[in-house]
Amino acid sequence: MSQTTYQGSCHCGKVRYEVALDLERPVVGCNCSMCGRSGTLLSFVPASEFQLLAGEDALSDYQFNKRVIHHLFCATCGIKPFARGQGPDGTPTVAVNVRCLEGVDVSSLSVHMVDGKAS
Ligand SMILES: [Zn+2]
Repeated sequence: MSQTTYQGSCHCGKVRYEVALDLERPVVGCNCSMCGRSGTLLSFVPASEFQLLAGEDALSDYQFNKRVIHHLFCATCGIKPFARGQGPDGTPTVAVNVRCLEGVDVSSLSVHMVDGKAS
């Protein structure tokens, strides 16, 4: 386990955050109707490891399917830097889009594909 603190942001910079993550764990790629379109690569962390530094009021919320996840996106630039939801045990969880983190070479990450289309 090697947690590192990363800075993340949307494209225009209104939304900025800091998150402690272990990117030696595989990140999650998903083929559901949402992720398959946007190509997000996700790493899930407890909400306590995530700190929104700016932009709460810049975020728009989108929900679909069972409406358990808040798919947040920047109303200005449209980037989805993270999503909010709950873990299986009800713990507030943040799904970080690792493509929005500074200094991360996404091509070096191992990706665990999840079949969200089927669920
Ligand atoms: Zn933005």
